Amino acid sequence: MSDFDVIVMGGGPAGSTAAATLAMRGRRVVVLEREHFPRYHVGESMMPFCYFTLERLGLIEQMNSARCIKKYSVQFASLNGRVSQPFYFFQHYDHQSSTTWQIWRSEFDLMLLNNARDKGVVVHEGMTVRETIFDDNGFVVGVRAVDEAKNVHEFRAPMTIDATGRSAVFAGQQRWKVRDPELNKIAIWTYYKGAKRDEGYDEGATTVAYIPEKGWFWYIPLADDIVSVGVVAEAGYLYRDTRDLAAIFQRETQANPWIADHLSTGEICAPHRVTGEYSYRSRHCAADGIVLVGDAFAFLDPVFSSGLFLALRSGEIAAEQVDGALTDGDYSATRFDEYGREMCRGIEAMRKLVYAFYDTDFTFKTLFMERPDLRSPVTDCLIGDLWKDFDDLFAELSRFAKLPETLPYGSTESKPTLAAL
Ligand SMILES: Cc1cc2nc3c(=O)[nH]c(=O)nc-3n(C[C@H](O)[C@H](O)[C@H](O)COP(=O)(O)OP(=O)(O)OC[C@H]3O[C@@H](n4cnc5c(N)ncnc54)[C@H](O)[C@@H]3O)c2cc1C
Repeated sequence: MSDFDVIVMGGGPAGSTAAATLAMRGRRVVVLEREHFPRYHVGESMMPFCYFTLERLGLIEQMNSARCIKKYSVQFASLNGRVSQPFYFFQHYDHQSSTTWQIWRSEFDLMLLNNARDKGVVVHEGMTVRETIFDDNGFVVGVRAVDEAKNVHEFRAPMTIDATGRSAVFAGQQRWKVRDPELNKIAIWTYYKGAKRDEGYDEGATTVAYIPEKGWFWYIPLADDIVSVGVVAEAGYLYRDTRDLAAIFQRETQANPWIADHLSTGEICAPHRVTGEYSYRSRHCAADGIVLVGDAFAFLDPVFSSGLFLALRSGEIAAEQVDGALTDGDYSATRFDEYGREMCRGIEAMRKLVYAFYDTDFTFKTLFMERPDLRSPVTDCLIGDLWKDFDDLFAELSRFAKLPETLPYGSTESKPTLAAL
């Protein structure tokens, strides 16, 4: 089949955004998605700046009438259970995007995929991409995929977008996936019904609650009186006396009085899940004929809920570049140099904050007591206003916390290995 301009591997937020953006520019796009939507996915808390991509996709009205909880802020609960002054986004800037959402991913991702369909994108669900196809010059010119009856299908197009999330099909194939040296965490999570919510504006707040050794809980209130609750820490810490997920989770809920109190009225209503391989980036963001978006390019520890924002934004920026490549008939990797630079710049800003968060000698409270003026640029990062000049912020922050060197990779690569999966 070669009726398409673009093949999108994976129909999550990054893939659907890229597909819809290209379809809005008149491109013929096919999405190949392994699952059938709606499907479960973790990662329910959004950042305010998701708004602008959703607006360009024409989805704000649907978001406002969807089963979402309004999120006005993020707050931190210290080891003794005391809650910090929340970061209210509306105190930082005056725009309707300052109120964001806590979402059921099954519903949100379905909305995005249907939006792509409505814009003319052809979507094949239950279709797993197995390998990319290269031409004699080393350009990716299509993919082979299998359906649920194990029939093999070949799709051809001048450009392919890898949006396969943490499966990271192309980066895996090329052995490009590099783990972040320091951020070796695991997460264990579940869902509670009937757990406590704070009042007023704080009802929909994301709470990050500390446990010892710089571990932390997320507490994300969702629709239907359900709360998403997860614990993140070093594997050695969480697995120190058992590998039973429920037992570990239960033990850790007692390590923070705020979490213990908020969960005391609730009941677990879903299995415990676990994931490792926490933070990584692909050595390259593109090769000739293919570009990587969302988690298929990079994944950062979700403490500041940056994943969805980076997925939406990378899908959108990459799609714009792909559109230009199609216009010029030039599918070389170097077309995506700017895309790689922009994404790495945004990810690095978040990554520095994540490192500060995990530094055992650092707290935001101490930072803001000494440097109240830094609350504003830190909030810029927390809302997703990432493409600003943060040189001063990070120069100052490095006096308080150990910050990482910028990773030297993430740029384009025009000579991929011609290896199959
Ligand atoms: C524990 C945890 C908590 C998180 N919490 C948050 C949070 O609160 N807020 C936030 O913003 N982010 C959070 N994230 C991150 C967020 O979930 C991701 O960044 C986001 O889902 C990335 O979107 P994506 O489209 O790149 O990938 P995905 O959403 O994973 O979509 C990829 C799609 O590709 C499909 N696929 C995979 N392989 C193939 C294949 N071979 N062929 C065809 N299709 C394929 C998959 O079925 C999937 O539908 C969290 C992540 C984790 C692990």
